[in-house]
Amino acid sequence: MRFRSLAATAAFFAFIFLGGCATNTMTGRSQLSLVSEASVSQQSISSYTSMMGNLDKKKKLLESTALNTRINTITNRLIEQAVLYHPKSAQWDWKVSVIDDEKTINAFCMPGGLMAIYTGLINQLHATDDEIANVMGHEISHALAGHGAEKMSMQMASSTGVAALAILVSKDNAQYQATNAALSAGALAFINLPNGRETEVEADKLGIELAARAGYNPAAAVTLWEKMASATKTKGQSDFMSTHPAPEKRQDSLRRLGAAMQPLYAAGKSAGAPYDWLHGDKARRPVRAEKDAIAFYSEQWESFKAGAIALTGTNQLLMVTKQGDFAKAYKEQHWRDLALGVSDSNYQWDLGYFYLAKAAAGLGYANAAKRYAALAEELSSNDDTACAQKRMLSCSGVDVAGEVRGASR
Ligand SMILES: [Zn+2]
Repeated sequence: MRFRSLAATAAFFAFIFLGGCATNTMTGRSQLSLVSEASVSQQSISSYTSMMGNLDKKKKLLESTALNTRINTITNRLIEQAVLYHPKSAQWDWKVSVIDDEKTINAFCMPGGLMAIYTGLINQLHATDDEIANVMGHEISHALAGHGAEKMSMQMASSTGVAALAILVSKDNAQYQATNAALSAGALAFINLPNGRETEVEADKLGIELAARAGYNPAAAVTLWEKMASATKTKGQSDFMSTHPAPEKRQDSLRRLGAAMQPLYAAGKSAGAPYDWLHGDKARRPVRAEKDAIAFYSEQWESFKAGAIALTGTNQLLMVTKQGDFAKAYKEQHWRDLALGVSDSNYQWDLGYFYLAKAAAGLGYANAAKRYAALAEELSSNDDTACAQKRMLSCSGVDVAGEVRGASR
């Protein structure tokens, strides 16, 4: 009996850590995913609706003021960019509320695009439009990157894991109850921790890019966190800082990222008016296709666009586990995910370069596509690197040599 429950627990954890993980293509990081984004968004809608309903009863929601217009304009420009990275979010129920509470320095975006900002953040920090865009960009990024679903998954994993562990260590029912209660309290203290530092780094990185593309100065990300930190020092812990721990050297990384964001910022400033995502008819929203999804700035992505990815590895076993995913991404034309997945896998063969060529062509990087096609052709004529010669791998139904022949000429 003891052995069987041990085996069951082991199987459970194997599921959690292998089956329950998914790589987030927006961040490249593997996340625990036991609950879907859709179900988390559903839960957010009900908590957001009841929270705003209560605030409205207490006359704590601002409506139709100049500040509402200002916040709507800023968040709407951010949403216009967010949907380019996460096309599914084009169907989210995007909303933003302005909460009349001068004492609270806070802002949030729940999974599914439900946002709020407190007047305390705006007025106590004397926040500029650029700073508001950077804080809201950071918040939207938590939602885009699925941090809510990740936190909820960890919560589920810890409570289920706690129950399994309690059964294992307890001999009788009374002891089980006591052990379970003690373990749960420990787990609760853990899961009630705010966003992790790792997810903070991600939200910083994504947020500054959304803001820059929306036409807001990336330098304001630095001044925003400086103001936030000094307000926390003089007035005690702010609500915002307690749930958004400062990663080490946050300002330094943001300054560096800000420099890389300058071309996007310049383009963003001269962009035309966005669609009204907050109030426009949902049925008439611009359609965003998964195949056109863009990636956040990274050295890897810059290198892909420039045609400079070099596939050099020889780990065939790793490729065996990934091949199906790549075939699927290719078939569904998920170009960004295909490009990032193939360059991550770093396996030297013609099919890899063929996929990179298709992804580059699909996203409009013609020169890069040409270079990857030439490499695919070259590798297809070498037995060591041709998919047609691989024993454990196949060409996933692609005639690489036939497809790329002459592409380089
Ligand atoms: Zn955060």
